[in-house]
Amino acid sequence: MRVEVSREVLDSIITYALTLHPREGVLLLRGRVERGVIKVEDLLIPPFATRGRGFSAIPLFYLPIDFSIVGTVHSHPSGSLNPSAEDLNNAYGRIVMIIAYPYRGLENLAAYSKDGKRLPVGLSF
Ligand SMILES: [Zn+2]
Repeated sequence: MRVEVSREVLDSIITYALTLHPREGVLLLRGRVERGVIKVEDLLIPPFATRGRGFSAIPLFYLPIDFSIVGTVHSHPSGSLNPSAEDLNNAYGRIVMIIAYPYRGLENLAAYSKDGKRLPVGLSF
């Protein structure tokens, strides 16, 4: 399993993280799964998307029932690329993606399966 994001989606994630810094932000990832590749094509801002701290605060019952949602991405203003136990316990969709400070590009992006396995992330063309 690997993950592909478009340049446009990556730029939008970076802009969102920069705008909210030093607060943490979360976005829903929309896309499709094809032959073991999770292709992220679009982003959605969930209700109550910004929080002062902690990913666990996201109220899952407010999330849309939408099968095109492949996971979530949230920012780590701390700079850590590792998911917390809460991040994995509260995973929604197939992947947990993290954009870490300083939000420069793919080197600050990581994706994990629900069981905490790191998945390779690349740009789609
Ligand atoms: Zn986190």
